[in-house]
Amino acid sequence: MAKQLKTSADGRRCVFPHCKRLLSIYNHGSYCHVHCDQMTREQMRKAPYRHPL
Ligand SMILES: [Zn+2]
Repeated sequence: MAKQLKTSADGRRCVFPHCKRLLSIYNHGSYCHVHCDQMTREQMRKAPYRHPL
């Protein structure tokens, strides 16, 4: 009587190399929450930060 949660019906996984985290069905991105945040920071780092005047 073990209930199986269908949290990853699609069985999608993070596309980050060597990352095997299953993506939540609520996660519509290609990365898991960890790498999604990491990639966002990478993009922010690449973009020149300008001090708001
Ligand atoms: Zn990941």
